[in-house]
Amino acid sequence: MKLYIKLFVATLIGFSSCANAQPKKEVEILQKQLISRMTGNEEWSDSKILEERGSNKDRKTAAEILIHALTEISLDPERHKYMYPNVNGLVDLLFSPFRGTNVYAAIPATTDSDEFVIIGAHYDSVPGAPGADDNATGVAMVYALAYQISKMEHRARNFTVVFFDQEESDEIGSKAFARKLKKEGVKVHSVHVADMVGWDSDGDLAIEISPARSLMVPAYENAGKDLDVPVYKTNVMSSDHKSFHDAGYTSILITEEYANGDFNPNYHSSDDTIDKLNFEYLYSCTALMFAVMSNLSSEK
Ligand SMILES: [Zn+2]
Repeated sequence: MKLYIKLFVATLIGFSSCANAQPKKEVEILQKQLISRMTGNEEWSDSKILEERGSNKDRKTAAEILIHALTEISLDPERHKYMYPNVNGLVDLLFSPFRGTNVYAAIPATTDSDEFVIIGAHYDSVPGAPGADDNATGVAMVYALAYQISKMEHRARNFTVVFFDQEESDEIGSKAFARKLKKEGVKVHSVHVADMVGWDSDGDLAIEISPARSLMVPAYENAGKDLDVPVYKTNVMSSDHKSFHDAGYTSILITEEYANGDFNPNYHSSDDTIDKLNFEYLYSCTALMFAVMSNLSSEK
């Protein structure tokens, strides 16, 4: 009886906090298709296959796939081409600065607002890895959120979705994007970064959020309670949220469970392939993050 009541209440709360959510099937189709195209499982254009996203050439192709994908959901994507100092040595500093492309799209507020909520994920992979979990899953999550947020009837804040280049090279793409936001004086409410959200071998649906002192922690903890998803606080700083944290913005990382030993053994290897992903888990993470975004789009 107790369990029955708990489940019933959780269903009601889950449903109400997910008002405006698109049907699960629709979200899953979008996510599977994008991950398939990014990991060599499906052609992205006539007989063209992209197997990894480590080299300059492959990252360029990945950016093109993302531009196309955002256009397909009726957004108006832009390329943020950057050059960033390469401090690996004096010769690098002078002759080989980092060059890359972030892909982003704005979803404007429906009311008068100058505040921006930024949602991002890196799209590059390490050479030799298809990078299905790291980080086609994060990209697919942000993509599905972009779709769902754009369908909301009411948005009290502006949203920007962004796919970062060169996370695997010291988070260069996100550093360049943080620099751009600063330079343009964008009023940032908060930055939410998804990195690796497709592995859940113990089936508990748990997520981790970092850093533990982020101002956004309560929003995720509350969504976790509503949806019956365990949320663990950690202090992992090795992803793109660090770039925004260092620039003084409220930022948070959402990732799969490491703390309790549920680590993806295929990490940074040629085995990080689409068939190893847990799409139920990816959907659960997406629903939780959507609940947070729904609150941010309604509260003022
Ligand atoms: Zn990653």
